[in-house]
Amino acid sequence: MELRPDEISAIIKHHIKNMDKKISYEEVGTVIFAGDGILRIHGLDNCIVNELLQHENGSYCLALNLENDYVSAVMMGNETDINEGDIIRRTGEIISVPVGEGLLGRVVNPLGKPIDGLGEIKYSKTRPIERIAPGIITRKSVKTPLQTGIKAIDSMIPIGRGQRELIIGDRQTGKTTIAIDTIINQKGKDVICIYVAIGQKNSTVSSIVEQLRQNGAMDYTIVVSASASELSPIQYIAPYSGCAMAEEFMENGKDVLVVYDDLSKHAVAYRAMSLLLKRPPGREAYPGDVFYLHSRLLERAASIAPEYGGGSITALPIIETQEGDVSAYIPTNVISITDGQIFLESELFHAGVRPAVNPGISVSRVGSNAQIKAMKKVAGRLRLDYSQYKEVAAFAQFASDLDKETKQTLDKGERTVEVLKQNRNSPLPVEHQVMIIYAVTNNYLNDIPLERVSDFERDFLSYADEKHPQISANISSTKDFDDETKSLLDNALIEFKKIFS
Ligand code: ATP
Ligand code: MG
Repeated sequence: MELRPDEISAIIKHHIKNMDKKISYEEVGTVIFAGDGILRIHGLDNCIVNELLQHENGSYCLALNLENDYVSAVMMGNETDINEGDIIRRTGEIISVPVGEGLLGRVVNPLGKPIDGLGEIKYSKTRPIERIAPGIITRKSVKTPLQTGIKAIDSMIPIGRGQRELIIGDRQTGKTTIAIDTIINQKGKDVICIYVAIGQKNSTVSSIVEQLRQNGAMDYTIVVSASASELSPIQYIAPYSGCAMAEEFMENGKDVLVVYDDLSKHAVAYRAMSLLLKRPPGREAYPGDVFYLHSRLLERAASIAPEYGGGSITALPIIETQEGDVSAYIPTNVISITDGQIFLESELFHAGVRPAVNPGISVSRVGSNAQIKAMKKVAGRLRLDYSQYKEVAAFAQFASDLDKETKQTLDKGERTVEVLKQNRNSPLPVEHQVMIIYAVTNNYLNDIPLERVSDFERDFLSYADEKHPQISANISSTKDFDDETKSLLDNALIEFKKIFS
């Protein structure tokens, strides 16, 4: 055999030259059915769940059902020119949204595109919208309060940073108002807020943005909106993308508040999508995994231990009930996932008790650990007094002449209800809350006529701030309500009652 060096070296040279050429390989499939916003695609054998797929015309869809012979995907846009036989390409990615400071003050859709007409969003990072919730090791217990500025909530149903507290009630009972007031109250408290609007009217969302802007709350707030006119897949991803934006801040050690308004509409959007995908319907025609839909979202709210970054996500999901029925499917699910609920009642709302919180069936399972000491001291008896009053009031309707003790319970109860009333967009600092709740629970208001209670509250707080600034200074610096502050407050109340007539 004869060796020919030039031939061998030519072969080696050829190999070296083509060393870095890689074969690029793209997996493509063909549309075998298109309709109702659903595509069935044949040929995407390695497709993963929740993967983003791209049509040859550039539009995107989301792979949701992986079946034996085909993949079912939902379209993310309104394109109508998709036909059978079209080519669909895998992207290998799941949906991501822009994250970071650039989003603050903006209104975006669930894909992170601006819809407020204020130009492009500056961002340097994106995050996938789905993520596994933080585990046990990385979490710490909920210890810092998240002040809502609403007396009825901060005193009786306190919320801690990292908690998930459900706001539940019929339509038009002030659910959104509680969430918005809480956002407004975070001004200057170093909490970033994200308001996710799902399936709401565009006009409602724009008035909420206007409210936030007027109160200077947009500076630290992001609004994610998937209005009722959007396709159900867009509504479906909205809370997850809001949560992804929150997680970025949390990982940088910030405290974040996320409002999901509301998850009933989210579940309905998911049901519509699932029925079109021919998933088997279960109770109330929701698919079997509707519990997981909300649990995997709300589990991502957490308070992270300092050694792992130390931020937190507090979640305020909202659920709308029908006729106060909390035992329907979605309400019971979300009640069991969250750490408590604020129950709003339309009877109370229409009777003028606003916020229409029913303290009897509202609870906060972790928040009381996060309440400041001063509030714990003065509001400890509030719930008990309130339920005692309710019980006595029910009987007192029938009695003509009441003994002194019953009368006192009634007087005090009526005034407590009056004190817990609060106008929208008027959050009260926690020191002031402590002072007025102390006054009512210690019978200082019993002889004030009912209709003058709110005047008393307003005038007393400004009087105390002017003449006895020490009281609120003490409470805000020590977070406690010591004997010295107590006697100062007693004196101030006695003094003020003399001049208030
Ligand atoms: P929907 O079911 O339509 O979402 P909702 O339960 O979110 O309604 P809101 O929109 O918050 O209710 O409030 C309904 C109306 O009640 C609004 O006009 C709001 O201004 C008014 N409202 C809510 N809370 C108060 C309050 N504390 N004081 C006075 N008005 C209030
Ligand atoms: Mg609402």
